[in-house]
Amino acid sequence: MEMAVMLTSSRLIIARKRRRMTLSKLSQQSGVSVRSLTAFENGHKDPSHETLVSLASALDLPMSFFSGPEIEEIEIDALSFRALSKMSALDRDSARSAGRLAIEINQWMEERFTLPKPDVPTLPHLSPEEAAERVRALWGLGEAPIPNMVHLLESHGVRVFSLAADCATVDAFSLRWKEKTPFIFLNLEKSGERGRFDAAHELGHLVLHAAHRVPHGPEAEQEAQQFASAFLMPRAGILAQMLHNADARRILSAKRKWKVAAVALAYRLKDLGLITDWGYRTTVKQLSQMGYRRGEPDGIVRETSQLLNKVFTALRSGRVPMSKMADDLRISVDELNKHVFGLVPLVLDGEQEERSFSSRPSLRLVSG
Ligand SMILES: [Zn+2]
Repeated sequence: MEMAVMLTSSRLIIARKRRRMTLSKLSQQSGVSVRSLTAFENGHKDPSHETLVSLASALDLPMSFFSGPEIEEIEIDALSFRALSKMSALDRDSARSAGRLAIEINQWMEERFTLPKPDVPTLPHLSPEEAAERVRALWGLGEAPIPNMVHLLESHGVRVFSLAADCATVDAFSLRWKEKTPFIFLNLEKSGERGRFDAAHELGHLVLHAAHRVPHGPEAEQEAQQFASAFLMPRAGILAQMLHNADARRILSAKRKWKVAAVALAYRLKDLGLITDWGYRTTVKQLSQMGYRRGEPDGIVRETSQLLNKVFTALRSGRVPMSKMADDLRISVDELNKHVFGLVPLVLDGEQEERSFSSRPSLRLVSG
């Protein structure tokens, strides 16, 4: 009889969910019976070396992944999934497991770099409008447009990752891990303007809901939308823009300043009583005919991550290859890439200087 190898059952479960597989699908792909898979996942049995080779290959992860320390799943109620009731369990669990792997990636970075400390207030008793104003005041943003949402969030300790491209059916989501470090996962297939709005929407969940109540459901969604609108387009800042009865042309010009979608600005103007319901409907119809409903013609480029760029640049200049990071994390470079894709430019030619990592370099981030 062959010797059994150690398997961490929680890792097999996360890997299977990450790959969007049911037990029977994994059984088909690996040639291992559902009965055995169930026993492995329950921790009742360990696989043979050969069986683990088949599982690792079917799940496209290194063998080492399956013998690492236990990985605790993220609870569904900790996540701000938007259309939870409409999501398939496979999609939901794939995104949830991807999020869990990103938490591991963050842990790896925190052990090697001094990253910005979380500084996201919890304001569950304020209205979304008041909460947005309070966060702006606390972060010293005044009433001005926000140059870059991702940089702003990162400078206040939010860890921003991309929603792995194979989870693209899922919208952005967020969580506070262990009620401490806030994470936001962005869907990078949307326009730059929508990406910013998603980031502000998730900030709304972190401020209003996470750690206080379940951050999903119609009411929480509505509140996060209101927060995002007020955060990106603060009342006083918008009122100063002389946008009374603004038509489509003026909205298109003002939206560049605030870096928001044209339709989002029109909605905010209606919300602030600057345009009538009728004016809003007419304007949105016009904008939609011009292509501003499906996307943003001549839109801004998508925001990228300052934190991840600094980490990867520092790693390069310390001659730490990405494969080393992936090995430490017991994942493939391909899997690692999926979590940072779109947030880090393709060209990462860092400085050639030698640097030691023993001193835990502190990454200084410029806010906004
Ligand atoms: Zn939401």
